Amino acid sequence: MVFMEDLDYRTLAKGMLGKQMLDVGFGQFRNITKYVCWKRGKFFGEVNARGTSQQCPECGAEVKKDLSVRVHHCLSCNYITDRDVASGQVIRNRGIELISTAGHVGIQNAYADGLPGIGETQSRSKSKTRKGVTRKSKK
Ligand SMILES: [Zn+2]
Repeated sequence: MVFMEDLDYRTLAKGMLGKQMLDVGFGQFRNITKYVCWKRGKFFGEVNARGTSQQCPECGAEVKKDLSVRVHHCLSCNYITDRDVASGQVIRNRGIELISTAGHVGIQNAYADGLPGIGETQSRSKSKTRKGVTRKSKK
C-alpha cells in the first residue's frame, strides 16, 4: 500500500515554495506512483494533508513547528524522530484509518500489529508489516 497527501500542488506552486514545488515535480511523481500501484495491483490512497507535520504519530498530540525545525519532539509522549519521518508516520496512520473505515477489515487486521503504540520497536514493526502485505497480496 502507498499513501500520499492529497495536496493540491498547483495551489502550492503559487505559494511560498512555488519554484521548488515545480522543480521537483511532485504532481508528476504522484501520478506515476498512482499508475505503478494500479499496474502492480497495490492499494494507493490519498489522505488529508492538513497538519501532517504538526501532529505526533505516536500519541496524536499537536506539536507545532515551523519549517526550520527538523526534529519532531513530542512533549506529551516524549517521542523524538526526524520531522519528515514523523510526517510520514502520520500519513501512514491516516491511510490505515482511511482503509479501515472503508470496510477493508482484513487489511486493517494485517496492519494492526504494526501500528505505533502497540509495543513493538519501530524498525521491527515496519519490516513485519511489509512482509505481511506481500504474502497477503500474492494470494
Ligand atoms: Zn506524542
